[in-house]
Amino acid sequence: MPKKAKSKSKHKNVKMSEKYVVSDGKLTRKFKSCPKCKSMLAGHKDRAVCGSCGFKEVSVKKE
Ligand SMILES: [Zn+2]
Repeated sequence: MPKKAKSKSKHKNVKMSEKYVVSDGKLTRKFKSCPKCKSMLAGHKDRAVCGSCGFKEVSVKKE
């Protein structure tokens, strides 16, 4: 068993490649950015939450 990776920071770092999706040569954000603090919103099933300022955006799909 390999040794555990160093974990200096509690906060889990997300790779940039996981935040963005390249489609047709264009770089598209997977997640929206917070309108308040411009941080990356954490995408959830039906909502997006900002981990920095607590901004919450609920995405309601129209039927
Ligand atoms: Zn925010």
